[in-house]
Amino acid sequence: MFADIVSRAGYGEVVPPILEDIGVFARLGEQTDVVTKEMYDFVDKGGRHVALRPEQTASVARLFVEHRPTLPFRAWYSGPNFRYEKPQKGRYRQFDQCGVEALGSSDPDLDIEVISLAWDFFAALGLQHVDLVVNSLGEPTDRAAFTDALGRFAASRADELSEAGRTTLEKNPLRLLDSKRADDIAVMADAPTIDEYWSPTARDHHDAVLQGLHALGIPVIEDRRLVRGLDYYRFTTFEFRSPALDGAQNAIGGGGRYDGLVEDLGGPPTPGVGFALGVERTLLACDAEEVGRIHGPQADVFVVDTSTSGAALRISTALRRAGYRCERSYDHRSMKSQMKAADRAGATLALIVGEDEAASDTVLVRDMRHDSPQSLVHQTDVVEYIRQVLTPQSDV
Ligand code: AMP
Repeated sequence: MFADIVSRAGYGEVVPPILEDIGVFARLGEQTDVVTKEMYDFVDKGGRHVALRPEQTASVARLFVEHRPTLPFRAWYSGPNFRYEKPQKGRYRQFDQCGVEALGSSDPDLDIEVISLAWDFFAALGLQHVDLVVNSLGEPTDRAAFTDALGRFAASRADELSEAGRTTLEKNPLRLLDSKRADDIAVMADAPTIDEYWSPTARDHHDAVLQGLHALGIPVIEDRRLVRGLDYYRFTTFEFRSPALDGAQNAIGGGGRYDGLVEDLGGPPTPGVGFALGVERTLLACDAEEVGRIHGPQADVFVVDTSTSGAALRISTALRRAGYRCERSYDHRSMKSQMKAADRAGATLALIVGEDEAASDTVLVRDMRHDSPQSLVHQTDVVEYIRQVLTPQSDV
């Protein structure tokens, strides 16, 4: 479903490697938790310092630098990431993300496009309660001036901060804004806000993004404290939160503009914007809202075979090759148990082969949807018969 939505908008799939040179991720920022504390890194047998990817944006930027595709380059990915975290509900050491990156344009329309793709994906899953929180970190100079001001402010109230908060203050005052500790929250409530430092360009960009989202009917919650984990963000930052989930783990996705990353990785100055959605958390949100339950595909046909003629193997193979979803039982179960399994599989038709049918090379076709009379069909005609009754599934 994710692939459908993003490929309709022209995003092509990329498959970044799970193992990368540590340098690719070190660029995410010296002060970033993902780099300093959460990376699974090691020296391999050849003496190379490598890491299991903690996220995929840096790898997409790295492959962009190596292959220099035409601009704008728009790509999507999905797959596992690894972070050394304290595992708990919604926070794992191996977790899946799917995401998009759009490189090569500063047009605010692209910020709006990527946000709306994620929004549409959550809606397509059936999630009713997703909050979109948006902020802007301004241009790098705005962000630097704001970080300085924040540092000065927090230093003036350092004795009221938590001990961990004082360490954060020394390393990166910006991170104090998303501290979950009560002491830090109380102090930071009085802190200066980033919008006081936005340049006219940053303000215009932000206004354009808000207007575009409004025009698409996507509601926005503005939060000046949204700074997000990675150091490379500029201008727009956003997060999707599920109010149905526990506060600390309620972010089901997030992203933003990262106009400096490609350059940091040795490429030409190239603006970029993207998001990553947490797959497990999104599924938790679906569970919490009791929507989007993902059922396995329903079977078109279930072959119930109580004979010893091998009919189940032959018929199910022939039907699968013809494009039908076909299931069967194993281990010579009783008729009753195989019929129950056909029910559970949601099969439209049951093809029944007992010893009598096996002896005459026939099958009894029962329509599981309604109580219509059963038909007896010769086994060689089964595929053709099913073709007349059902339309093959094309989205396998
Ligand atoms: P990030 O790459 O940190 O911006 O994270 C993007 C999204 O990935 C978050 O909003 C979460 O939904 C998900 N995520 C991040 N870290 C984890 C984790 N350790 N376990 C599960 N999901 C995670």
